[in-house]
Amino acid sequence: MKIVKIIPVLTLLVFNAVILTGCAGEKTLPTPQPGSIAVRIVPTSAVHIVQASARQEGTILVVDGKIQRRWIGNRGIVKGHVDIDVLDANGTPIRSLSTSCSPNIIPNLSNVRSSFKARVPVAAPEGGVVKVRFHNGPDENREVL
Ligand SMILES: [Zn+2]
Repeated sequence: MKIVKIIPVLTLLVFNAVILTGCAGEKTLPTPQPGSIAVRIVPTSAVHIVQASARQEGTILVVDGKIQRRWIGNRGIVKGHVDIDVLDANGTPIRSLSTSCSPNIIPNLSNVRSSFKARVPVAAPEGGVVKVRFHNGPDENREVL
């Protein structure tokens, strides 16, 4: 069980090293891929959501990203899930759901991240936005993926 958990962590470490090196000193965001939808990340005190993206794959909206723990003023176990709201061009939610992140206890190693990926059966509207938020409380009126 221990070994099974260590392997993905090592993979992430290598992956992160490549990403960090590749992005050194570069502030501009990469050009969005075709079918990509704007993502708005709601800031929270416990974690940063990074590398979040949303794209339409046929009838499925794929939303993914990584979650990195914040360290300043933040002790103890950080655990939670990701709330996703698909908004239309007017900002009205058309789909609200939550999805788990893996691992759901955000790693307390500074360069290891948790990740999430949701496949939402919805067609994102023209001009729509996907809102993502890390959350650790109960949800009301929210589908669970
Ligand atoms: Zn929630």
